[in-house]
This record gives sequence, structure tokens and C-alpha cells, in this order.
Amino acid sequence: MIEIKVEPLGKKAKEVLETIKKFESPSTISMHLPLPCVWEEGEGCYVKDPDGNTYLDFSSGIAVLNLGHSHPNIVKAVCDQSKRLVHATEFPHPKRAELLKKLSEITPLKRTVFSNCGTEAIETALKVCKYSSKKHQFIAFQGAFHGRTHGSMALTSRNKYRIGFEPVMPGVYHVPYPYCYRCPFNENYPECSLKCIDFLENSVIKNPQSGLSEISAVFVEPFLGEGGYVIPPDEFLPELRRICDENNIILVLDEIQTGFGRTGKMFAYEHYNIVPDILVVGKAMAGGFPMAAIIGKEEIMTSWGIGLHTSTFGGNPLGCAASIATIETLKNGVIKNAELMGKYLLKRLNEIKNDFEIIGDVRGKGLFIGIELVSDDKKTPAIQETSKILGACRKQGLVLLPCGRYNNVIRLIPPLIIKKEEMDTALDILTKALTL
Ligand code: PLP
Repeated sequence: MIEIKVEPLGKKAKEVLETIKKFESPSTISMHLPLPCVWEEGEGCYVKDPDGNTYLDFSSGIAVLNLGHSHPNIVKAVCDQSKRLVHATEFPHPKRAELLKKLSEITPLKRTVFSNCGTEAIETALKVCKYSSKKHQFIAFQGAFHGRTHGSMALTSRNKYRIGFEPVMPGVYHVPYPYCYRCPFNENYPECSLKCIDFLENSVIKNPQSGLSEISAVFVEPFLGEGGYVIPPDEFLPELRRICDENNIILVLDEIQTGFGRTGKMFAYEHYNIVPDILVVGKAMAGGFPMAAIIGKEEIMTSWGIGLHTSTFGGNPLGCAASIATIETLKNGVIKNAELMGKYLLKRLNEIKNDFEIIGDVRGKGLFIGIELVSDDKKTPAIQETSKILGACRKQGLVLLPCGRYNNVIRLIPPLIIKKEEMDTALDILTKALTL
């Protein structure tokens, strides 16, 4: 239950934050200011700060804790494994074999490379795409976030993340994503007949003047995550699949934020009856343990030879044990809960929308839900208001995070084990904050 004993930030939380601010590079902490929340303990859908305040966590540690904090199955798996074997590098171990097999069962893709985090997995995908296709150009989308290392940063479109680090990896071309609430072509769906697909196909890929004759792969998030929790029209991914097939281009789905049950299916692509050539996963893969992977089609993933790509910690025994426990637990009714609770939350938010002009758009699938706040009927992003609303929620014990190109989208991404009563509590707090 939520319990606010001391107005945040309390004395102990402030001390932790001050020490971090003093000794850590500011590059890693600036994002959550001015809304810091110091986490000391977590259980299920709740986190505690060092001053004894208990918050309802609607961030899941940015879509990582899909099973909630310290799920007993994950704790047990990691504890048991840590007594037997913690590290193996490239030495084969049974948990690695078990997880590889499991991944090939929950996706139609049969070969995997393990990584330690999302951006590293994206780098791996870039390398195998280049190697297998013998081509070096890539298409990504405006609003995309794929990570912050040099290759993944080249796929990430937000200028703010790139300024000062250029030149990033060359050869990436960004095209408009179907962000229908703010249509890049100023059209309306469905009358637009998916202009963004037409643009990609005819103005970029088939255009002999595009400068792109060596396209290896298209990288896409099935739903934009950091870019504003945007759900594209249903035809988008199947059309992208068709274009890639017809033009001998690899389709890479970045499901780092959408994967492992978040959208009400194990993976978001399952909503559209398509299969990517490469699936990139991370975040929720191991219940909070650092772990990521690319899982791909046999011919792509066997195109490179022995020793061409590996890492010291990738596929380590603890991560594999945590990931096996995560997958097993998710399959046990948790994904169904995400689907049902997501439908409930969307319905309630759409009702609330009618009472608040500031809510411009509500969108989502499963428990991947965003509310876009605007300050007028011209859709001017309500940037200051969003920050104020998030702050008010935090003070009432609800942890929420913003996203989107203007930071005016509130994302609602609770652990997938959330109960209806907890959902109602969150909605009450949010409604109160919207009234302020
Ligand atoms: N791709 C997507 C879609 C993400 O949401 C993220 C992180 O937010 C990344 C890649 C990068 O993952 P990581 O922070 O683990 O490097």
C-alpha cells in the first residue's frame, strides 16, 4: 500500500541524491530531475525510499520489472544459481543451453546472441546485418530510440542525444513514423492511406535519387517508446514486412521496451501476424537482471563465423537463470493479466479524457500506455504542466515517468502483475493531479 510518511524528498533520500550528484557524472542522472525518487527496497508493484515512504510504481524501472520488484521466482532462481556458478564467459553452461532453447520456443526465430543491455544488442544486430547482407546502409524512424552508443545512437533520431557526439555511424536515413496524432504529413488516418509507408517505399527505397542503393536493414520499434508511446496503425508493420521482403532488406524489430508481455502478448509483433528477421530484446528479459539478446533467422545468424562477435558477460549463468524464471512466470497468466488490465486502464483513461481538455490523446496496447498532454486545441505540448502533474503524483505516492519528443507524454507502465484496485488507486491520484 502507498504510504507517505515524510514529504519527498526526505532527509535520507536527499543525502543519497547529494552523494550521487557529487560523485557521478551528471550524464546519468539528469533525466529524472526535477522529479527524483530514491529507491531503497522494492516488492511487487511497490518501492520504498530511504525515509520509509512507499510508492506505487507505474514505471516498472522503465519497462524492466514486468513481474514487479524482486519477484520470488526470480530471486530464487538467482540465489540458487549463484550458489552453483556465477560466471562462465564463453564456457558452455546448462542454463545458457536451456535459455537458448526456450527463446527458440517462444519465437519462431532459432538463433541467439546474448548481450548485456539494449544498446549492445542493437550494435550486435547492426554488425550481423552488415555482415550477412554485405550492405552498409540502414533505415530508421523519426522519433526512434535505439540506444546511446555510436551505432545505436545513429539509429536514434532525437537531436538532443546526438549533439556533441557527431559524427555517429554513417549510412543511416530516418523516415517519418506513423505518429497519427501528430501526422508528419499533416494528414488524417485512414484517409491518408498510410502516406508514411508510401513515402518509405516510393520516395526512399525505390527512388533512384535517394542515395540509398545499399540498404541492409530497417530498424523499427513496433510501438515508439521513448519517442512518446505511439501505436502505429494496424497495417504499418505488415506493410513494412512486405516492403522488406520485396526489396531484400532485413527487418529488425527493436522490442527492448515492448517485449516480454508488456503489450499483452509475449512480443508486440504477435499482434500483427508477422515475424521479423531479427528480434532485439532486453530490459524485462531477466526480471531486472542485466540481460539482452538478438534472436534471428537461421541464415542471418549463421552467416558470420566462429568468434566474430561475443562478450565477457553476455549469456552469464545468473542472467540466464533469471531470464528462464521470467519467461516461465510470464507464461503463467501474467501476460493475460497485462491484456485485461490494459483494456481496463485504456477504458478508464478514455473516460477521464472527456473531463480534461489537457488530455490530447490516450493510446496503448496491453500495459504499454501513454497520455499526451496539450495546452490548447493546436496541440501545443503541455511541457510544464506535465512536469507539474508528475510531481504532484509523486508526492501522493505514485511513480510515473514522462516521454516523447517534448516530454509531454505520461507513460503508464506498471508491473504486469498489477491488480485492479491498484489501478484504481493510480487513476484516483492521477485524476487529482490533473485537477490541480
Ligand atoms: N531500444 C529501445 C526501444 C529502448 O527503449 C532502449 C532503452 O530505453 C534501448 C534500445 C537501449 O537500451 P539500454 O538502455 O539497455 O541500452
